[in-house]
Amino acid sequence: MFFISCQYEPQNLVNQNNVTNKSAKPSYAIAIHGGAGAIRRSEMTPEKEAAYRTALDSALTIGETILKNGGTALDAVEKTISYLEDCPLFNAGRGAVFTHEGKNELDASIMDGFTQKAGAVGGVTTVRNPIRLARSVMEKSPHVLLTGTGAEQFATENGFEKVDPKWFFTQDRWNSLQSVLEAEKSQGKTGNLERPEDPDKKLGTVGCVALDQKGNLAAGTSTGGMTNKRWNRLGDSPIIGAGTYASNDACAVSCTGHGEYFIRYAVAYDVWARMSYGKASLAEATDAVINQKLKEKGGEGGLIAVDKNGNIAQPFNSEGMYRGWAKPGERNVAIYRD
Ligand code: ASP
Repeated sequence: MFFISCQYEPQNLVNQNNVTNKSAKPSYAIAIHGGAGAIRRSEMTPEKEAAYRTALDSALTIGETILKNGGTALDAVEKTISYLEDCPLFNAGRGAVFTHEGKNELDASIMDGFTQKAGAVGGVTTVRNPIRLARSVMEKSPHVLLTGTGAEQFATENGFEKVDPKWFFTQDRWNSLQSVLEAEKSQGKTGNLERPEDPDKKLGTVGCVALDQKGNLAAGTSTGGMTNKRWNRLGDSPIIGAGTYASNDACAVSCTGHGEYFIRYAVAYDVWARMSYGKASLAEATDAVINQKLKEKGGEGGLIAVDKNGNIAQPFNSEGMYRGWAKPGERNVAIYRD
């Protein structure tokens, strides 16, 4: 039985088909995701679906309010993702999936499209909001990616809020690990991250991309990784160019899916490169990467992206992707393909 829900102010939800296409450049734009995977209508209760939609809508409100009031794309990305990290419905922060050993190891990254500076953390276990730590790595260290005990030490030295690892625990995610471990035992295998082994295919990584009123882009991604990961495995989410990328000359991108594929094919950077070098539109670039290249290679997942003109794309080659987007006068949250 489900249920955990996020703390949120109930919002008016907008019908997911209520999308308008305006050609003029919007003053701001924001898109979010809460993970892609085998999200089936038949397995979703009305309560569960409503909880996801409301959480997505609340997250959008946080980011959109910042952008509407002239705040930066970076702030919108960081604050929106922090909210989703605190929401136990998603696989990031509280609600993260478990490693083989029954721990939560968290990864996050953020990139500023204006400066092209980036920060990322991998395998942190006591930092409540890894996306904030990633931003600090970008702003307060000469590095891009810190991992494990070093990242924890950097957090302590920079006054970050630390939590008992129990903060991240949710029964649903624990049950998912137990099912995978049992399946492995009966099949005599270990260390398998293959999706067919994962009974909870709704992976739930979170991400946000934004364009602010000054024309700056930013992207961020945060995750617990994949259920049953071991050996300090890192996926694409903390890897700049794989899970996250932003450059003001073209677009900002945040990915979700089977991380090994997103790393191998430098997915977020590939979207940017097709636009920047190949002069593809955002829609063409994202479709080619997710629905053609990645699909052919067997990599399941999706991404959200916004370009410098405020166009938004949210392609996925899985059954569903928790997602939402907003521009002045437009707003939408969606889960399934239709
Ligand atoms: N990309 C994440 C990882 O591989 C998982 C996900 O997006 O669901 O760690």
